Amino acid sequence: MFTISNIKAVEILDSRGNPTVEVSVTLDNGCIGIASVPSGASTGTYEAVEKRDGDSSRYHGKGVLQCLHFIHEKIQPTLVNLDARNQRAIDQRLLALDGTDNKNILGANTILSVSLSVAHAAANAQGVPLYFYLGGPMANTLPVPLINVLNGGAHADNDLDIQEFMIIPHGASSMQEAIRWGSEVYHTLKKLLKADNLNTNVGDEGGFAPSINSTTKALDFLCLAIEKSGRTLGKDISLGLDVAASEFFKNGRYELQGEQKSLTAPELVDFYKNLAATYPIISIEDGMAEDDWDGWRCLTKNLGNILQIVGDDLFVTNPKRLLQNHNKNAANSILIKPNQIGTLTETWETVLLGKKLSMGTIMSHRSGETEDTTISDLSVAFGCGQIKIGAPCRTDRTAKYNRLINIESQLGVTASFAGYNKKAW
Ligand code: PGA
Ligand code: ZN
Repeated sequence: MFTISNIKAVEILDSRGNPTVEVSVTLDNGCIGIASVPSGASTGTYEAVEKRDGDSSRYHGKGVLQCLHFIHEKIQPTLVNLDARNQRAIDQRLLALDGTDNKNILGANTILSVSLSVAHAAANAQGVPLYFYLGGPMANTLPVPLINVLNGGAHADNDLDIQEFMIIPHGASSMQEAIRWGSEVYHTLKKLLKADNLNTNVGDEGGFAPSINSTTKALDFLCLAIEKSGRTLGKDISLGLDVAASEFFKNGRYELQGEQKSLTAPELVDFYKNLAATYPIISIEDGMAEDDWDGWRCLTKNLGNILQIVGDDLFVTNPKRLLQNHNKNAANSILIKPNQIGTLTETWETVLLGKKLSMGTIMSHRSGETEDTTISDLSVAFGCGQIKIGAPCRTDRTAKYNRLINIESQLGVTASFAGYNKKAW
């Protein structure tokens, strides 16, 4: 009934127009599970390997035909006839087939596409949604979305040093309302930018990418957009940043070119302190570079008691990296990107470890995405109290918001919105 009979992979396009892998797993009962995988731009050095063909005659070397070959020739023969419900055993087979720590033989993109589509097939065969299949009847928490409305850094062609300026509608009473507020602020922001003769083209994650270079100017725009939308700063909606500081860490200093500042780690902490004292910021992600553990400890020592300090490139969804965060002295929250680690089981285990360490867990997309909505289901199934899926704009992002709206609707009166409930985070 639940045994895998066929695995088919195709090379499709992601939201940046680059190739990526989509897999369909068919079971002997005819049920199918489909999943595709995303791709980062500001990738962490310690992420599991993303396999690309490197053949410059196709897609500028970014083709994934090798991944397809591995899936058809190596993975399919290994997984055929296995029970799709046995996710752990399947993921273990995938790990054994690769045999490396960082998945550099098969590629995390290859492995994850299969791992996720197996779960989808098993859920479909049981006739239940993915969040229920993985999370069971107790999974009812809808995560508060961190909505990225202004883009800079590696995600935009402007001079903003900080990669993501996010609004966090934690005062909403439901996911529906949080997304509506997010959309309203987003469109108000567009009007404000236009009124200032700034362009309203969007960056990779759907946020606006105006030609400005000042962090405070960006934050002023966000605050004004929130207030003009009829929301109260800090009560209804707060702010979050993803600095992606590894991108501008050079020779031991943080080179903020847009701000025209060259800072040491303690000076950068002071920069954040000033921002947090002026604006309703509640979360800072990758405020320091991925190897600057001293910088991270300084950041958390100074601001960890009032802010969420999130490790993305720092932890790369890897339990081994997370275990280096002794007593949460480097960060108090972890970003969860399934493609940084490469299997569903490992993603779950990292979430579990984060929770055991009393850290916040934020399910996350990548800057290069597809229409796949698996992470929306995972956020509910795994009880991550937060999710990061970009702007409420562009189908690669809105598909995931729409999926959350649908999950909330399916759960009906039993649904619970995480809001600013730190226990739920
Ligand atoms: P990436 O960016 O997908 O380009 O790595 C997202 C993030 O840094 O959170
Ligand atoms: Zn990040």
